[in-house]
Amino acid sequence: MNQILALRLLDAADAAVIIDAASRIRYANDAMYALSGYDAGSLPGQQIETLLPDAVREQHGAQIGAYLAGGCKDAKVLGHKRHFAIRHRDGSMLPIVLKAMDLGKLDNENYMGAFFIDQRHERAIEQQNAARWQQLQRIALSDPLTLLPNRRAFEIDAVRVAARARRAGSAMTIGIADIDFFKKVNDRHGHAAGDAVLRAIAAVLQSQARASDVVARVGGEEFGLLFPHTDMSTAHQVAERIRLAVAATCVDFELAAITATISIGLAPLPHSGDWKAGFMQADAALYQAKNKGRNRIEQA
Ligand code: GH3
Ligand code: MG
Ligand code: MG
Repeated sequence: MNQILALRLLDAADAAVIIDAASRIRYANDAMYALSGYDAGSLPGQQIETLLPDAVREQHGAQIGAYLAGGCKDAKVLGHKRHFAIRHRDGSMLPIVLKAMDLGKLDNENYMGAFFIDQRHERAIEQQNAARWQQLQRIALSDPLTLLPNRRAFEIDAVRVAARARRAGSAMTIGIADIDFFKKVNDRHGHAAGDAVLRAIAAVLQSQARASDVVARVGGEEFGLLFPHTDMSTAHQVAERIRLAVAATCVDFELAAITATISIGLAPLPHSGDWKAGFMQADAALYQAKNKGRNRIEQA
């Protein structure tokens, strides 16, 4: 057995094992015992397969055999670092970077060695970063008051939904809902009451829209609506249901019972697929709805 190499590996900070041509472990250093959870001195004599993931366990012996027979110089594994996993004694899989090497022959026996570089810390940091990234994205794309998607999210969705509608050649309707005389709600009941009304109306919009529709808060008391796969007459029906549900909602705030209505402007997605142009037409229709008395729907 390669004593000199084994002595060098003994102190290595990274886990190291040496196996023979039959995949039997001949040597493991202290770091390997610490990593794998096996009792010191208990690994030599065991098959390396015990430590390998199920997916590679079966082929491992054959691969070593083929390599040593010279038929398969597997340069992808030997000498290169690659992400891998080993089985801890408790059965859990540990992420590692594997660096395997051919140690050559000693007394007519072949030896192979491998470093297992513990990746748990790196993996934990990656997961933490991914979770933080998701959280940041949620914050960046949602409106904190109503918890609806915000204007940025609406624009991203509009681009996506419009592109899909255009590709599929299907109808799509764009809408804007605006609370009527909302300034009066604030003036009469205070800003906090206005916030409560905004939250309640946002919840009604979302519950009355269909799952595939998009409802977002795009301005102070304005909500953007996207109705994918929906022609104008169907969108009008959905918008009417939303309008009636908002008008029927009563928000209890302190001693006041506050009701509010919305006006809605609708426009079809233009043939060009330019959702912004459609949004501007919906805004013009909303303006009409306001002019014609509010609490109503107009279409471009
Ligand atoms: P119209 O029917 O023409 O839409 O009248 P309006 O009073 O709703 O419209 P206007 O644009 O004059 O006023 C909108 C008001 O919405 C003014 C603003 O203070 C209020 N507002 C905007 N964002 C918020 C918010 O986050 N909370 C509260 N409480 N009020 C808000
Ligand atoms: Mg308004
Ligand atoms: Mg407005």
